[in-house]
Formats: sequence, C-alpha cells, structure tokens
Amino acid sequence: MPEGDTIFRAARNLGRALIGKPVTVFRSTYPLLTRFNEDTPLAGQTVERVEARGKWMLIYFSGGGILASHLLMNGRWHIYRHGERWQLPRFHMRIVIENAQYQAVGFRVPVAEMHTARSLARNTRIPHMENDLLSADFDFDAALKRLLARPQDTIADTLLDQSVLAGVGNVFKSEICFVCGLNPFRAVEALTREEVAGMIATARELLRATVLEDSGDLIVTYRGQQRRTTRNSDPTASLWVYGRNGEPCRRCGEPIRRRIQGDDVRVTFWCPRCQPMPDGSEIDG
Ligand SMILES: [Zn+2]
Repeated sequence: MPEGDTIFRAARNLGRALIGKPVTVFRSTYPLLTRFNEDTPLAGQTVERVEARGKWMLIYFSGGGILASHLLMNGRWHIYRHGERWQLPRFHMRIVIENAQYQAVGFRVPVAEMHTARSLARNTRIPHMENDLLSADFDFDAALKRLLARPQDTIADTLLDQSVLAGVGNVFKSEICFVCGLNPFRAVEALTREEVAGMIATARELLRATVLEDSGDLIVTYRGQQRRTTRNSDPTASLWVYGRNGEPCRRCGEPIRRRIQGDDVRVTFWCPRCQPMPDGSEIDG
C-alpha cells in the first residue's frame, strides 16, 4: 500500500519530469478525464506544480485544471523516457501525460478527477496541505488538537486516519508506535499530551528520513524503493516490527506480535515487551 513517503517521492519525481514543460500528449481510459481533455486540451499547457497530499497526487496545469489521483492500494505513477520499456502491463494504464522528454504513466490509479482551485478547496476527501506530515505547511498544533479530539480511539486507528494526519499507512503506523514505545492498542486518552505530541514528531521524522535519502536532483525513472526506519543500511534490517511476526525484536529479542483487525488492511505489528499495555494486560495476536 503506498504511504505518504511513496507518494511524496513519486510527486517529487513527477515534478522533476513535468514541471515547466509543455504537455504534448494527454490520454486516459477514464471518460470524464477524456471529456475534460476534449473540452480543454491539456496538450500545449504546462504543468506548474505537482503535490502529494496524503495518498493523493495533485498535478496542476497552466490552464487552471488540477488532476487529483488517489492511489489506494495498487496505483502507481511511473516516469519513463520515450522508448523506455514500461514495467507494468499496458492494460493497467489509466493516465498518460507526455512532454518532449518524458512519459508519466498512472497505472491502476483507481480514482482520478479534474478539479479547479475552488472545487479542490471545497473537497473534503482530499487532505489540506497543513494536514500532510511531509508538507512544509504542516500545522503541528492543529494536528495535536485533532488527535486529542479522538480520546476513545486507539492510537493505531488515529494514526491511519487521513483526516487526522495525512501520510501514515500501515508500515509507518507500526513503526511509529514501536519507536515511541507505545502499545498501538492504547486509547488516545490514556496517553499524556507529551506522548501524543511525541508521536506526531516521530511520525514526521520517520517519514521525512525516508524521503530525504534520495533527494538528489536526478530524475529517477522507474525503480523499486527501499523504506527504512532503523537507520540500518542492511535492507533486510530496515524496519523495526512491520512484517516481522514471530521474529525477535531488534531491541529486546522478544518475538514480534501481529494482529489483524477485520482484514489485513489494518494489520498491526508490535513488541509486547518494548510496547506493553500499562496495566500489564495482554493483547491477542
Ligand atoms: Zn522489544
């Protein structure tokens, strides 16, 4: 599942390939986008800005149109040089934006819509920039308020709620709780204000660390990505708890636990010794 850092990197990459260059071709398999493009041709316009907001990718065109795509579980934006071989089958293609040098291809993008600045500002599903952990406009105090306003919810659930903090997915949810030494199933109200603030700061730090690693100016055409929270450069040791069910905790050696709620969309990993429930109660894995 793409998380905030993945989308942020993809946006940065798309921006480097598209911003300031006239669009030569726009194609989509979505009728609404095709119709928009027939009424207001995107070819000839330039891309002015590319922005990640939580799991949404926003592409701003000089004619005022803003293409918002949500990547959900499997959506991906790839950049290719002309003639470069696509890494995913053609039938997964939903959107193509080309300029003289590059092709940006949106594969399996399940949600895509055209907005104006006005309709975007009114939209309640697309997070505002100040909610996005990776945005320079991130508003820490407002985020703290939103979290504290959810006293009954578990910290695992609030971290995932994109209307509270935009950018955290399952991998980072488990990693943030581990780094903070907090059991993911504790209710927000059981935490001190400092603990909640510490969690937000950690979320920002971990997400930023992964996107800063490759912040050179190169345009990276398709490449797999490495995510890392442990600062260990060995790729097999890159995460503290996520995906490590039954494996020894990197800090204390206790087997890592996993809990699946409903479906694996909300899978959680934690160390029962480093992240105990304060009353010593056990959580079923
Ligand atoms: Zn441990």
